[in-house]
Amino acid sequence: MSEESGGSLFQGAVNQLSVARDKLGLEDAWYARISYCKRELIVNFPVKMDDGSVKIFTGYRVQHNTTRGPAKGGIRYHPAVNLDEVKALALWMTMKSAVVNIPFGGAKGGVTCNPKSMSLGELERLTRRYASEIAVLIGPTSDIPAPDVGTNPQIMAWIMDTYSMAIGYSVSGIVTGKPIEIGGSAGRVGSTGRGCVICAREAARHLGMDFAKASVVIQGFGNVGSYAARLFTEDGCRILAASDSRGCIYSEEGLDIEKLVEHKERTGSVADFQGADNITENELWEIPCDILLPAALEQQIVESNAPKIKAKMIVEGANGPITNEADKILSERGILVIPDILANAGGVIVSYFEWVQDSQAYFWDEEEVNTALEKKMVKSFDEVLSLSRESKVNMRTAAQMVALKRLAHAMSIRGIYP
Ligand code: NAD
Repeated sequence: MSEESGGSLFQGAVNQLSVARDKLGLEDAWYARISYCKRELIVNFPVKMDDGSVKIFTGYRVQHNTTRGPAKGGIRYHPAVNLDEVKALALWMTMKSAVVNIPFGGAKGGVTCNPKSMSLGELERLTRRYASEIAVLIGPTSDIPAPDVGTNPQIMAWIMDTYSMAIGYSVSGIVTGKPIEIGGSAGRVGSTGRGCVICAREAARHLGMDFAKASVVIQGFGNVGSYAARLFTEDGCRILAASDSRGCIYSEEGLDIEKLVEHKERTGSVADFQGADNITENELWEIPCDILLPAALEQQIVESNAPKIKAKMIVEGANGPITNEADKILSERGILVIPDILANAGGVIVSYFEWVQDSQAYFWDEEEVNTALEKKMVKSFDEVLSLSRESKVNMRTAAQMVALKRLAHAMSIRGIYP
């Protein structure tokens, strides 16, 4: 945990905005509003388990800011979920929607649970009850959930069904990242990984790096990591190493990603993949490579491992994977960091496209979605890069400046009620 924030992830996320705030000369009144979450809901609810017992679970839904549009953000199922983490993730969603200029605010939700140890029936009952408990906040024009760590399109389908049953008709726009059969968007599943790869490619151009020959290391071979791996490979890059919560693997020649996806589906982990060596997490961070993609959880690159990283650039697939202290070390070492609020925005961009398609009941093909995503990512990347050059700040501060400026402007136009 970050020391300057007293161990709070949310406070650390707020503190991290201070350089951008000072550069912009942002008025205290607007900054103060960003330093708080608008609404924080905690729900404790019972779920019938398969063995006949009843277990109480705790869940959260936090809306950070809704000035620029409905609250938007994923739902996480993980044993470490807590209010402070959900608040930080909600703040990053506000910033992300603003930096890529989509008309959403920021939210996040989660349930403290271990989905890997639960049956499908238990997960469905947990999801439906959690969805009912947070129904006071969520809605297709108020607050729209999506998948995050430990959740997936099936879980979104149960949320959509629960909400629709309560209201009496089908409301596809209540969630994004749902299956295509019930109003999901083509291209949504791989969109966050796709956005990461677009950012890495644009950054490689900026660094004068031959992207087609780039070597890549990925922490977290889940939704974001595995889709990014596939697309990196399509562009000619070599994936040297990948990891998940159960193991890390390395291959000098590069991993066969299709086979690795099959292996992970079959065994539940990337560990013991034929033709690759099992390595430790510490070894993974120290692999010399062109691109490092942390795509697991927050606070993975810390003061102790940041000095040992040998990547030329880091693309933050995960939210908040680098602590503020480690960020300073990487900046001093001249390692280019493409910040989370830009790098992993592909997911919320295509979620926005999905929401637009649902509201019109008119669906686009995958090529159309991918083209629109590419256009939005490249434009946002260029905007942040230009500001970073102009203002002589790193990409993180520049992205925060773009977002804060849009937010403060929107807040000042709306004024303060009453
Ligand atoms: P996921 O659950 O599909 O995958 C997470 C992966 O990380 C899993 O393979 C897990 O085993 C692995 N992992 C967990 N702890 C690890 C550790 N200590 N070392 C190595 N691997 C570890 O989740 P996801 O949707 O891919 O999300 C990953 C990150 O990307 C999160 O920070 C999430 O908030 C962020 N993100 C996701 C989306 C999205 O659309 N899914 C969008 C934006 C940001």
